[in-house]
Amino acid sequence: MPIYESIIGLEIHIQLKTKTKMFCGCSAHETNVQPNTNVCAICLGQPGVLPVPNEQAIRFGVLMGLALNCTIAERSKFDRKNYFYPDLPKAYQISQFDMPIASNGFLDIEIPNGERKQARIGITRAHLEEDAAKSFHTENGKTCVDFNRGGTPLIEIVTEPDFRSPQETKIFLQELRLIARYLGVSDADMEKGHLRCDANVSLRKHNEDGTVFGATFNPKTEIKNMNSFRHVERALEYEIERQTQLWEEENPPKTSTTRGWNDAKQTTEEQRSKEDAADYRYFPEPDIPALELVDIAEEMKKELPELPAARRIRMQQEYGLKLSDARQICDDPTLANFTEQTFSELIAWLDSLPELEGSEGEVFEKEKEKLARLVSGWLLSKLAGLMSERSIDIRTIKITPENFAEFIVLIATKKLNNATGLKVLNSMLDDGNDPTHIMEDQQLGQMDDAGELAEVVDRVLSAHPVEVARYQAGEEQLLTFLIGMVMKETEGAAEPALTRNMLLVKLKNLK
Ligand code: ADP
Ligand code: ZN
Ligand code: MG
Repeated sequence: MPIYESIIGLEIHIQLKTKTKMFCGCSAHETNVQPNTNVCAICLGQPGVLPVPNEQAIRFGVLMGLALNCTIAERSKFDRKNYFYPDLPKAYQISQFDMPIASNGFLDIEIPNGERKQARIGITRAHLEEDAAKSFHTENGKTCVDFNRGGTPLIEIVTEPDFRSPQETKIFLQELRLIARYLGVSDADMEKGHLRCDANVSLRKHNEDGTVFGATFNPKTEIKNMNSFRHVERALEYEIERQTQLWEEENPPKTSTTRGWNDAKQTTEEQRSKEDAADYRYFPEPDIPALELVDIAEEMKKELPELPAARRIRMQQEYGLKLSDARQICDDPTLANFTEQTFSELIAWLDSLPELEGSEGEVFEKEKEKLARLVSGWLLSKLAGLMSERSIDIRTIKITPENFAEFIVLIATKKLNNATGLKVLNSMLDDGNDPTHIMEDQQLGQMDDAGELAEVVDRVLSAHPVEVARYQAGEEQLLTFLIGMVMKETEGAAEPALTRNMLLVKLKNLK
């Protein structure tokens, strides 16, 4: 049985979040306006106008290039890419051909359940260009064009054919989206068309001993313009299956072709054959001087923030979080900031504890890990659950990191347990009060006074003679019922372990 390896490369367009368009002063990204309002002679492609490159777009592009470990060109230029289509009134797109702003980079990805656990994806190049207008079809069969989008700044990122599975492309695209958000260069929302992707795929046959059969890659299929992670993954899976069949029939693709993803049918369909660079008759844009990028690259290097991959590792090491929790937290920069502020309070608290004073690093680290487990549990499952019940979000909650840290301390010191903790957290979400006050107001403090608890236990035992008798007769599972009744009586304030022990002792004495 021959084995086929999938060879995949991506071409990704990301809209840059600038105020204005790439070569004119029209507002970019406004979606709540009438069609064809944010337009001018330049982005409508009138003759005799002069395009002026958007400096912010160039800075964003350079920043993105740096984040992808690219070399930033000292000198770059724009070119005209010629083609006829109604969404492009000039009949050429201003793009970059042989001197892109960035080239020769890479992005490392982790593939937790993949055949290979990590991969370095080469970035061939990244260049700036303008988006085309948007065409849409009316009910009576007309095609209309909205030029509001025409001229929106884009960065196109081309990868090497370094992916070996559809899953790897999905992880890469998600990481790329996150990087764009960390850099603030784009919201990179695929559903809104901020991030669009063409995927190229071919197969390569392996010998039975795993060595590669033939040194070169084979003709590829390019699947155009997909705007959801799922589409990319599904389209690639479909295409790999289709090509595998062709190979097995000894009829592998002989030329490269272009296909489109039909989501309704869940298939790819052949489109016009692939035009190559020659058909676009690229030539230098004569109206725009070359870009000198040395100074901008130096400035942008200083502005480069900590990227998600580095932040995950740092948060894992600094706070003792599990990597999977650090990953989930870092996927949302606001959540990550909230978490970091929470930990800085918690570490200050640990530092202030007399019993930890002068303690060895290891003891301190152990305590920190305990807190980290509490923070992840309460933040990623309980608080996240309560927020989604209320359809609110970490950006809008009334809980400050200080109050959340105080809450975690109350849990850690057993002043609150899971049940009372949940009540306090609910109140914190409702009115933003601090947890200690809520706990006192609602008398939710953990009942660790043995005398008080003993009274409740006695009450419960005498109120349930039947269950007690059954327990004595051997139905040991009724202990859980009795613990539950004590919890109910105390509205969750009883310390569970203490309750259990006390019940066991009293039941034994009752015998
Ligand atoms: P094109 O002829 O379409 O311009 P390029 O060499 O410019 O091809 O590559 C375009 C994209 O296709 C890149 O992302 C690249 O990694 C990918 N690619 C190139 N050759 C192959 C191949 N044989 N199989 C799969 N992907 C490929
Ligand atoms: Zn304009
Ligand atoms: Mg190409």
